Amino acid sequence: MSELKPCPFCGREARLSYAEREDAFATEPYVIVMCCSCGIRTPKIFYVSEHQGELGTAEAMAIQKWNRRAE
Ligand SMILES: [Zn+2]
Repeated sequence: MSELKPCPFCGREARLSYAEREDAFATEPYVIVMCCSCGIRTPKIFYVSEHQGELGTAEAMAIQKWNRRAE
């Protein structure tokens, strides 16, 4: 998995987060990258949980979006 760049706003660490952690009422699984400190986040990347490999693809997309913003 590619590495996450630090937050473009506060310079702190970012991490991947998931629908079940962010929103107890989420009807579809998704992944986001968010800053641990200031809380800014990428748009939600939805995926189909039954499809093997979809989560990995969604994670890679979220990381790519984050890193592009962080540049
Ligand atoms: Zn931040």
